[in-house]
Amino acid sequence: MPKLSLVIPVFNEEKIIENSINRVKSILTTADIEYELILIDDGSRDDTWKTIKELAQKHPHLRAAKLSRNFGKESAIFAGLDLVKGDCCVCIDADMQHPPELIPKMYKLWKDETIDVVEAYKSDRGEESVFYKYSAKLFYQLLHKLSGINLENASDFRLLDKRSLETLRAMPEKQTFFRGLSTWIGFTRKQIAFDVEDRSGGSTKWSLSSLIKLAIHAISSFTAAPLYLSAFLGFGLLVAFVILLIQTFIMKFLGHASDGFTTVIGLQLVIGAT
Ligand code: UDP
Ligand code: MG
Repeated sequence: MPKLSLVIPVFNEEKIIENSINRVKSILTTADIEYELILIDDGSRDDTWKTIKELAQKHPHLRAAKLSRNFGKESAIFAGLDLVKGDCCVCIDADMQHPPELIPKMYKLWKDETIDVVEAYKSDRGEESVFYKYSAKLFYQLLHKLSGINLENASDFRLLDKRSLETLRAMPEKQTFFRGLSTWIGFTRKQIAFDVEDRSGGSTKWSLSSLIKLAIHAISSFTAAPLYLSAFLGFGLLVAFVILLIQTFIMKFLGHASDGFTTVIGLQLVIGAT
């Protein structure tokens, strides 16, 4: 029976982690899937790590690592992927907003239909503020337009087979974007829908600033468009400055310029243009 590795990034989830592990465990046992659980504590500041260590003593299938500080979910996922020993792996959030009941279906698609990547996408985004909903929409549309990769309604809840996992691991990226990279690598893929559940407890660990950072990083790592944009802007400004400089000299030679004006404007335009 091929083995499934479940990768779970965990940050300050002392309230829910034990219930989440029990829920996942009972689903996989009922489905008769051989598995291992890989928990990555992303520098939690509460009793999460203590709870994980206690859980590891009770559950022989559980392995865990603690990062030296909070690096963010992306780094925690990649640290977990590095520890995978199974034949395929599934990434899932610790708060169970990704319903673990779908895992046996994902596993079956991989095993019986030899699908390399099974992507669970959000048919319903669950409870979130209007601001968050529309910012996310804008971000995904921008990313799609600029990079050609459509991640709208995509999630990190996805299964990767060994080959796609190895491909991801071999990538030299230091700053990672799991959802994007695991889509970009290709291979045979299938999408299945899920409704985002309410958080099983606690509150979201993403701050507005960490979401903005992730969005900027995602766009800049998938497309050189921001670089082209700054090159075009620079070139456009240079042309405008040269025209203005010529006009300034013409005014000077026609005697319409005040004393020193040409020098000041000339210097400003040259400095601005470079
Ligand atoms: N998480 C993490 N590091 C972080 C933030 C979050 O490992 O810096 C984990 C968190 O414990 C959870 C998952 O990533 O398992 C998703 O986080 P959260 O539920 O806070 O995000 P949301 O669902 O609100 O997007
Ligand atoms: Mg969540």
